[in-house]
Amino acid sequence: MKYTEVMVRYGELSTKGKNRKDFIGRLNGNITKALRPFPEIRIHPKRDRMHIVLNGEDATAIMSTLDHVFGIQTYSPVVRVSIDDFEQVKQVALEMVNEAAPTAGMSYKINTRRSFHDYELDTNDVNLAVGDFITDARPDLVVKMKQPDVKVRVEVRRDGFYVSYLTVQGALGLPVGTAGKGMLMLSGGIDSPVAAYLALKRGVEIEMVHFYSPPYTTKDALNKAKELAGKIAAYAGPVTFIQVPFTEIQETIKEKVPEGYLMTVQRRFMLRLTDQLRAQRQGLAIFNGESVGQVASQTLESMAAINDVTTTPILRPVATLDKTEIIDIARKIDTFDLSVQPFEDCCTIFAPPQPKTHPDTQKARHYEQALAIEDLEQRALAGVEITKIQAGEKFLHQDDAVNQEISELL
Ligand code: ATP
Ligand code: MG
Repeated sequence: MKYTEVMVRYGELSTKGKNRKDFIGRLNGNITKALRPFPEIRIHPKRDRMHIVLNGEDATAIMSTLDHVFGIQTYSPVVRVSIDDFEQVKQVALEMVNEAAPTAGMSYKINTRRSFHDYELDTNDVNLAVGDFITDARPDLVVKMKQPDVKVRVEVRRDGFYVSYLTVQGALGLPVGTAGKGMLMLSGGIDSPVAAYLALKRGVEIEMVHFYSPPYTTKDALNKAKELAGKIAAYAGPVTFIQVPFTEIQETIKEKVPEGYLMTVQRRFMLRLTDQLRAQRQGLAIFNGESVGQVASQTLESMAAINDVTTTPILRPVATLDKTEIIDIARKIDTFDLSVQPFEDCCTIFAPPQPKTHPDTQKARHYEQALAIEDLEQRALAGVEITKIQAGEKFLHQDDAVNQEISELL
C-alpha cells in the first residue's frame, strides 16, 4: 500500500482542557525531532489530531519511529485522494481489502464519515458505491456490519478523501517535557532503565545520573550505562548523561563505616549527590529503579534510612512490579540484553556480604559523622562529566568493531 500520510490521534492530553495547546505543541515538537531523519515529511498539528504528510517517505519506518513517541494514543496510515477523484477512492479501498483480506470467506465493511456536508454523495451513497465496487472485484468476500475482518474507513473532507484500514496503538502516556524535569539514577542493571522509560511515559524529561568507581569498575561498566542511556534516548530524544566519580567516597566508607551499614551509607551519599545535581539543574524530583523487597537495600526500612537525606520527592516507577514484569518491559524497550551483560557496577563491588536489611536511620546518621561528608561530595561533584547521548548510540565493543573492520580489510 502506498500511503500518503500518517494520522496521529492524541493520548490523554485530549482531556487536559486549557493545557491542550501546550501539550499539542510539545507533541508536535517531539514528533518533529524524532522524524528529523525523514526530511520530506510535513507535519500539520490540528486540535484533535495531527497529520504527517509523507511526500514519498517510507510509512513503515515512520510508524516505527512514532512507536517511541509518548502522547500518541493511536495512529493510522492513510491514503489521501483528491476530492474530484471518487473512482480512485474505490480503487484504494479495494487495494486495502485485498491486502487485509486475501482469502475467500473473509469479511469487510466500508465505514464512511463526512465532514464536508456539501459533497454530492452522502455517507450512505459512498458506502454503497465503494461496497458495490469491491463486491464486483471480490465476490468471494462477505459484507459484515458487526466485527468484520477488515473495516475500511473513508472520510470525506473538504480537502480530500482519507482512506485507511489500520489503527495502531501508540506509545500512550504524555509528551516528554510536559511534566517537568527529574533526575534518574541509572545503574547498569535491569530496573533503572525500565524506571526511566516509565518516567518518560508520564511526560517527565529526565537526566541520567550514573555513579562509577574506577579502577574498581571497568570502562565497560561505564560504557554499558551510556549505551543504556542511548536506548532510552529512543524515547526521549538526546539525553543528558551525568557521570559522577564515586571511588573516593566508596573507599572512605569502606574504611570508616561498619560493614552492616556500608550499603546504606553509600546509598545515602548517592542520593545526596543526585539531589545536589538536581538542584543545580532545576530538576523537581528524583527517579530510581527500586522495587520493594527485591534486595537488601530495597526493604521499606532501608528505603526510609536512605531517603532520610532529602525531602525531594523520590519516585520509584517499578516499586510495585515483580521482577518478571520489569523484565517484560525491559525486553520491550530493548534494554534487557544489554542490562544482563556482566560488567560489575560500583555497588556490586563494594557490597558487603551481609548488608542490613533493617538498617536504623539514627545509626546511619551516626556512622556518617566520622566522614568529611561535604569535602567528599565537593570533590565528587568537581569530577562530574556531562555528555549528551543520542538515540541508539553505541559505546561498548567499539574496539571490537574496528578490529573486525581491519581484519576484513586484510
Ligand atoms: P538496577 O537493575 O536498576 O541496577 P537493582 O535491582 O540492581 O537495580 P540496586 O543495585 O540495589 O538495584 O539499585 C537500586 C537503584 O539505585 C537502581 O535502580 C538505581 O536507580 C540506583 N543505582 C544503583 N546503582 C547506581 C549507580 N551506579 N549509579 C546510579 N544509580 C544507581
Ligand atoms: Mg544494580
